[in-house]
Amino acid sequence: MTTVAIQAGHLGIASNCSSDMRSGTGAPGEVTWTPVIRNKVAAILKAHNLGVVLLDANANCLATHPTYDLTLCIHYQSNTGHSGFGVFVPDASVDRDTTKSVALAKVIAKTYAARTKLTNYSSPRLGFGPVTWENPNTQYYYLWKYQNGPLALIECGEGAVGAPDHTLLWTKQDVIASAIAEGICLAFGKTFVVPPTPSPIPPAPVPVPFPTPVPVPEPPPLPPVPVPAPPVVPPTPVPVPPVAPVAPVAPVPPDPAPEAPPGGWAAFIAWLRRLLGIA
Ligand SMILES: [Zn+2]
Repeated sequence: MTTVAIQAGHLGIASNCSSDMRSGTGAPGEVTWTPVIRNKVAAILKAHNLGVVLLDANANCLATHPTYDLTLCIHYQSNTGHSGFGVFVPDASVDRDTTKSVALAKVIAKTYAARTKLTNYSSPRLGFGPVTWENPNTQYYYLWKYQNGPLALIECGEGAVGAPDHTLLWTKQDVIASAIAEGICLAFGKTFVVPPTPSPIPPAPVPVPFPTPVPVPEPPPLPPVPVPAPPVVPPTPVPVPPVAPVAPVAPVPPDPAPEAPPGGWAAFIAWLRRLLGIA
């Protein structure tokens, strides 16, 4: 079975057996990103019946270094302000299988460029152009002198926060992983089947409504508690004051008889008649 070793760049480097390696923690965020991509690539390769060995940054410390059909180390660049990627092969002086490394890396780089549309800054020996990100860190990567079989390293883009490829690398991780896995499959002559798009996050389950509360019947009214009638208190007799004896009413003297006008009543009536003309 064709077996591919995939290294998550920088993963676990702080505990490397070589003390001078322990500070190699990579670009911002890179160490949390590479294992995610490594694992996604591995799952796709397994689905294509390829053997997979997962490596972390401490692969140089392993007791044995089997010959795999390919060792691919996954990284991203920090931020130089230039969008792009590169697949790099070791300097021939540290690669026991340089011809195969170049042949495999070429297919991986071509496929990754097609799927991501990123500018290709791969090793000049792969034939994509003279402009390259190749440098001593890629040519003499620390693992090259330990790992056997064909070797390659991919810088997947510029992935630090604010870098030109940050959004692509962090929000399209399935695209990135699929692009890498497809290149590996094609490099080994495998027909690649695009993995199904990850199913969308299923909607949250409809919350189970609380059961309709069963109305609790009102308890029957309690029989009235007989209230004992208050004891009848006989009214306190109000003392009646003794009635004062009524003084006898003095007899009212009769009105005195009107005083007769001067000359007497007859003379007055006669005068009045004359005055009224009825005499
Ligand atoms: Zn790196």
